[in-house]
Amino acid sequence: MLALHEAADGWLARVRVPGGRLTAAALLALAVISEELGNGLVDLTARANLQLRGLAPDAAGALAAPLEAVGLLPSAAHDRVRNVLASPLAGRAPGALDEVDDVVALLDARLMAAHRLHDLPGRFCFLVDDGTGAGREIGPDVTVVARGGGKFGVALDGRPIEFQGDDRTAVAVAVGAAEVFVALRGDAWRLSETPGGADRIAAMLGLRLAPLTRAARTCGFGPGVVEQRDGRCALTALAPLGQLWPGLLRSLAALSDDVRLSTRRSVTLVDLEPDAVAATRDALATAQLVLDRSSGWIGLTACAGTAGCAHALADVRAAAADRARVRAATHPAEHWAACERRCGELPGTPVAVAVREAADVEVRYDARTTHVRSLRRAASLLLAQAAR
Ligand code: SF4
Repeated sequence: MLALHEAADGWLARVRVPGGRLTAAALLALAVISEELGNGLVDLTARANLQLRGLAPDAAGALAAPLEAVGLLPSAAHDRVRNVLASPLAGRAPGALDEVDDVVALLDARLMAAHRLHDLPGRFCFLVDDGTGAGREIGPDVTVVARGGGKFGVALDGRPIEFQGDDRTAVAVAVGAAEVFVALRGDAWRLSETPGGADRIAAMLGLRLAPLTRAARTCGFGPGVVEQRDGRCALTALAPLGQLWPGLLRSLAALSDDVRLSTRRSVTLVDLEPDAVAATRDALATAQLVLDRSSGWIGLTACAGTAGCAHALADVRAAAADRARVRAATHPAEHWAACERRCGELPGTPVAVAVREAADVEVRYDARTTHVRSLRRAASLLLAQAAR
C-alpha cells in the first residue's frame, strides 16, 4: 500500500486484506479514497486483496491515514507481510472441520509481532484452511489447516508436516517457518525457491515432512446460497474480472459489516438469517454482481489488459467478456493474459490464452499448446474444443 506501482492508468496501491474480511467502515473508506485519490476503479485480486487504481505517484501519504483509521494499515512495517488467505466461509460450510476466523486473526497478529518478518517478500503467502481446501489453488507457502476437534496441522509449500496441535501451536509453527525462510532466502521470493525447500525448513524447525498419502481435498464454492453449519446462510456473488467500484463498495457496506473477498474474485456475506437471503440476493444483483450458477464468468479470469497495463498487447478483458457469453460454467478454469508475463494465471490453470506478440497468441487446453493469430481465433478454437 505504501510502495505504489506504476500502471497504464496511473499508480496503484495494493491493500492487504487478511482473511478477505472487510468491515462496512473499510468499504466506505475505500469508496471515498478510490473516488478522491484514484480513478474509481478497485481490483479484487487472485489473492483476495484489493488494488486502488489511477492514483498519483505520491498518493501513499494521503492513503495511509484513512486506511489506518479503518484497520487496513495496522503496521506500516508489515504492510507487505499480511498475505493471509482463508475461505470466505471460514468454517461455516458443510464439510468444514473447524471455524477459523480467530485463527486468521491470531496469525495476522503474530506476523505483525514478528520483527524478523519485516523482510518477508510480498509474494510469500499464508493460508488458513478450514478443511475445505478453499484457497489452496493459490499455492500458499505456509498453510495452517484444520484437522477437526480443535486440532490443526501445518503444511509447507503444500506438503504436510508431521505435526498436530492447537491453534496457537500451529500458528507458532507457521510463523517459525516464515522466519526460517527469511533467514535462508537469499534471492528467493517463495518457500519453494529456497535451497532444500520445505524439507530443509521443516528440519530447521525440528520437524519432518509427512508422506503425502492422498490428494488434499478441495471444495469449490461459487455464486449462490450455502446453508451454514449453524443453520444461517452465506451468500456469494462473483465480481467479473475482479472489478469493483465505489457505488458497489457502498452497496456492500449497506448490506453487511462483514464482507468477505475470495481468491475466486467473489464477495460473500455470511451469517444471514434465512428470511433475509432473498432481499440480500436482490440487492447484490442490483449492484451488478453475478449470482447465476450457470454464468460463463465462473472460472474465467483475465489480467489487467490494455486499460490497466502498459505491457498489454491486446484487450484481453473485452475478449474475456465475449468469451463469458458463450462459455459454460462447468468448463475448466480459464485465464486470458495480454502478454507472456501471464499475471493472475494460477498454477495448474487448465485453459490459458496468452498474447506472445502481434499475431501470435498461445492457447493451452486439454494439455496441448497451439498458436493462433488473434484473440478472436483463440475464442473460436476454445468454442470448437468444447463442442467435441
Ligand atoms: S500479463 Fe502482461 S499485460 Fe497482463 S497485467 Fe501482466 S504484465 Fe500486464
